[in-house]
Order: sequence, then C-alpha cells, then structure tokens
Amino acid sequence: MLIVKKFGGTSVANKERIYNVAKRCIEDYKKGNKVVVVLSAMGDTTDDLIAKAKEINPDPPKREMDALLSTGEQISVALMAMAMAKLGVPAVSLNAFQVVMHTTHHHLNARFKKVDTDRINAELDQGRIVIVTGFQGVNRYDDVTTLGRGGSDTTAVALAAVLNADACEIYTDVDGVYTADPRIVPDARKLKEISYDEMLELATLGAQVLHNRSVEMAKKYNVPLVVRSSLTNAEGTVVKEVTKMESMLVSGVAADKDAARIAIIGLKNTPGIAFRVFDLLAKKNINVDMILQSIGREDSKDISFTVDQTQAKEAVQILKENQERLTFQKLVEEENVAKLSIVGAGMQSNAGVAAKMFEALADVGVNIRMISTSEIRITVLIDIDDVNVAMKSVHDAFIN
Ligand code: ADP
Ligand code: ASP
Ligand code: MG
Repeated sequence: MLIVKKFGGTSVANKERIYNVAKRCIEDYKKGNKVVVVLSAMGDTTDDLIAKAKEINPDPPKREMDALLSTGEQISVALMAMAMAKLGVPAVSLNAFQVVMHTTHHHLNARFKKVDTDRINAELDQGRIVIVTGFQGVNRYDDVTTLGRGGSDTTAVALAAVLNADACEIYTDVDGVYTADPRIVPDARKLKEISYDEMLELATLGAQVLHNRSVEMAKKYNVPLVVRSSLTNAEGTVVKEVTKMESMLVSGVAADKDAARIAIIGLKNTPGIAFRVFDLLAKKNINVDMILQSIGREDSKDISFTVDQTQAKEAVQILKENQERLTFQKLVEEENVAKLSIVGAGMQSNAGVAAKMFEALADVGVNIRMISTSEIRITVLIDIDDVNVAMKSVHDAFIN
C-alpha cells in the first residue's frame, strides 16, 4: 500500500510530538507500506512569521511573504527526517522545489497545476519514507508560492491523487469532523462519515478542520479522506462521495468570522449596474459571496455583498476609484460581521429548515442581516459578537 499521512501544526509542535508522529509513520512503514508524510509548520510558526513580517512592513510584498511563510514547513520536514534517522529508519525530506509541485503564480493563494512524481517515487523505491513540505509550491517564474492558510491538507490530497495512493489520512488535534467546532460547541457530535459536497460547504463556510480546496480536489480525483487524531487511536471521520448516514437533516454548523460587508448606497436604478459593479471586482480576482439588492429612494437602488476581510480594502478602493462611472452616492464597509451556516444534504427534500434556523436565532435575540441559500446550505450574516451563542442555539435546534 502507498499511504499519504498529513500532520498539522499542533501535531508537530515540539520534540515529543515530532517523535510521536515519526513513530506512527514508522509503524506503517514496517508493515511494508510506502509512506509519504506531509507536514505543516510547527505550532504557531506561521502566525508568528506573519506577525514578524507586519513588524517590518504592515503591507509586505506578497512574493516576500511566501518566501517567509514557506520556511515554517521546511523546518518541520527537516526535523522529522532527523527524528526518523535517529530511530534508525531511512527517510528524506523534500520541499516543493525538490518534488516540483507546480502552482499558479498567485502569491499567498496559489493553486496546484501539476505535481511531479519522479523524485518521490525514486525515493520510495529506495526504501525511504518521504517527508514533504505542505502549503507550498513553485510558480512558472521559479518563485515559491503558498496555498492559503490551512493549505497543507491540499498538498496531501494532491500527492495522494498523483501518486495513486491507497489512503490519505489527515491527522489533526481533533479526532474527526464534528457537527460544529467542538471548541465553540462542546456537545458537538463526531461524524462517522460525510460526503464531499457537504464537507466542501462546511470547509468553505468556516470549518477549518479541512482546507476547502483539499476537499474539492479529493472529490475531483475521488480520493477518500480520513480525518483523525494524531494523539489517539480513535476512529476518525471518512470523507467520501456517497454516505449512508443516519438520515440527518443537518450534518454540520459552521461559522466564518473573516467576512466583511460592503454596501453601495444610491446606485442608479438602470440595467447593467450590477454587471459593472461585479465585473470590476471579478477582474481583480475578488470573491463575492452573499449579495443583496434593495430598492432605495426615488430612482436608486442599494447593493450590499460580502467578501473575505483580506480582500475588503481592495474592493472598497476599486469601487471608490470608479464612483462616477458606477453612479453611487455612498460606500459603507463593516468588518464586525460573521457568517453562520448550516449544511446538510437532507435539506433538499425538507420544508421548514430555514424557518427552524431563524427561530433558533430569534430565540437568542440574534438579528439576521443577510441570508443566502444553496441546495444543501443556509447562510446568515450576523454580528460577530453573536456568533458563539447563535452557533450553539442553531446546533441545539438541529442536532441534539
Ligand atoms: P491542523 O493544524 O491539524 O491543520 P486546524 O487548526 O487547521 O488543524 O484544524 C483543526 C481545528 O478545526 C480543530 O481544533 C477545531 O477547533 C476546528 N474545527 C472547526 N470546525 C470543526 C468541525 N466541524 N469539526 C472538527 N474540528 C473543527
Ligand atoms: N502552516 C500553514 C498555516 O498555518 C499551512 C497549514 O497549516 O496547513 O496556514
Ligand atoms: Mg489545518
């Protein structure tokens, strides 16, 4: 068997944890398996590096941010190879340049284009455990890129796909995917399994347990994932195409605190205005999520929408630069908002799910500012201070 095993930051945070991971990998190796290990940076390394950069320059060049952030993973893989050597097992660390993990050019948010397998296969054939840096890639200018926060999961899935791995195991600090973040909702339940589509929605809507693009890629290449704990032997959660779940209406609740709301007030009420607004944003690669249009006074309308906080400043700037052409009166930006979502395949065939969610929010006095839905999810925009109480109430209503 060829097994890809990915370990997150807390799982390699110190010497004891590194040896714990090394031993778990060696167990599989000694059973005769080929083992590829993907690692994140140790503990809070990535956060610390970001803070260091901001000390030097509050608005650092993205290319140099990638040069800096990619060092975290380089440290983990080298130390892991040293631990395995000490335990008497042949192992080799490789970074994205050595494997050659080709990505798009977008710094801090690159996507894989192609991943080479020659070097990894050659090392595996030599009987070595191969330890690869998560989160990083190389673009066509031979510059280092990173995949966005949490991107090591995507490295693991990409490798599992191209190497045709028999298993892709994501080890983290919780023992699986829960019906809500167990740090916020202590009585959340662990799921035995979940479909790619539901997991993709949850990950996109704020459940950081998996990087959303890792789920997208797992679905595309049909790589079954197992999410489990690096510290216990508990069973974990399987993420796969179809599930025979206990028929749950809602399989999870997620919150995203990194949202910002932008309202454009007093746009001319004529055809083509919405096109002009969102075309401008799309050309700058700004992802717009919830959109609400309402009729204002006289011959005007207002459009509000949400974006990621990291893109809010840029969005506001572009809109302001085009104020005359877009014919609006005022722009309002708010960052103290959050998205709360429920996700479940069972929603499709059930009436009253939205009403039940809104009731759970009303019960705890939470005001809804925007609403958006898809076949398998409902998302509301609320005040950021309401998130935890709202999440508990909604979780209680559907899951317990
Ligand atoms: P790693 O460093 O291993 O990649 P992350 O911090 O990225 O770990 O992801 C694990 C964390 O995700 C957990 O500690 C948990 O608080 C959080 N989380 C959010 N939503 C969920 C969920 N639905 N199920 C499990 N964990 C979740
Ligand atoms: N170290 C990176 C981060 O903290 C990547 C990851 O953990 O997956 O975002
Ligand atoms: Mg993660």
